[in-house]
Amino acid sequence: MSNRPFWESKKLSEMTRPEWESLCDGCAKCCVHKLEDEDTGLVHYTSVVCRYLDQEKCKCTVYAERRKLVPTCLQLQPEELDQLHWMPSTCAYRLLHEGKGLPIWHPLITGNRKEMIRTGHTVTGKVISEDFVHEEDWQDHIVPWS
Ligand code: SF4
Repeated sequence: MSNRPFWESKKLSEMTRPEWESLCDGCAKCCVHKLEDEDTGLVHYTSVVCRYLDQEKCKCTVYAERRKLVPTCLQLQPEELDQLHWMPSTCAYRLLHEGKGLPIWHPLITGNRKEMIRTGHTVTGKVISEDFVHEEDWQDHIVPWS
């Protein structure tokens, strides 16, 4: 039996539900609005975030009914890995799917979220609610997230 942690020894598709859920670092970068370039297919991230995100805690305030309230909300599932190109480059699911390791600040490595918060890997303090930016102006808020 392998002594390596599950994220190094298992494929995403082999993980248990708790293992899968624990990969999410709670950065909330996937809750910002994204714009896809129609010509190149490139996905651009903005600093405009879903109105239902608690920006301090990086938690969805309507988690149970989010798909009803926001039909475009991505709910990543092991069988939907083709959606990963929408995720930020630091997203654990995307990193593992691309054959990379978890970043050193990831809560599964450090044991808590302190280091990821200290190194600025959450959206807290960097976003503005969609309540305050018209959709036609989102392109003025394109930012690199890393
Ligand atoms: S971007 Fe990935 S790691 Fe960050 S909150 Fe979304 S699913 Fe979790």
